[in-house]
Amino acid sequence: MKPVIALVGRPNVGKSTLFNRLTRSRDALVADLPGLTRDRHYGEGRVGERPFLVIDTGGFEPVAKDGIMYEMAKQTKQAVVEADVVVFIVDGRQGLTPHDKTITDFLRKCGRPVLLVVNKSEGMKYTSVTADFYELGMGDPYVISAAHGDGVADLVTEALDVA
Ligand code: GDP
Ligand code: MG
Repeated sequence: MKPVIALVGRPNVGKSTLFNRLTRSRDALVADLPGLTRDRHYGEGRVGERPFLVIDTGGFEPVAKDGIMYEMAKQTKQAVVEADVVVFIVDGRQGLTPHDKTITDFLRKCGRPVLLVVNKSEGMKYTSVTADFYELGMGDPYVISAAHGDGVADLVTEALDVA
């Protein structure tokens, strides 16, 4: 069985961009419109000789109680259940948001290993791009640029090691 990595985070942090890079596909729709990728989305990737499955999710909107946002949150929870490891993505340019905290609370209860990843870090110093996120209590974050590829191979290698 290939290990399963779920990409989780609020809309617009770069989940689909990372998914596309990992699967080298254009299957997941990347857009500036937050929340456009509304379904869980499966792809296959490989780092070195190690294959894995990756699930893109439509984004976690914990405040919504019904409608499309509620469905998206449900699907994200399902993806986490199916995953061996969760890659929890936050946006280094926007900094910490209340949604990030709510997602953290959910992931703490999910019983899966979670890697905290600060995306959009290209051209930024580790200390300044990560400073906000220590408050989440998830230790030293990984920094990546899903758009440029920086840090992505190291992140996946670590994810597979803890899966
Ligand atoms: P999702 O909603 O989490 O799936 O986010 P998307 O992958 O659709 O990306 C949302 C926006 O962030 C798009 O405009 C992307 O081009 C942009 N984005 C994604 N990754 C990066 C990155 O590493 N650096 C920068 N600067 N922008 C990024
Ligand atoms: Mg998306």
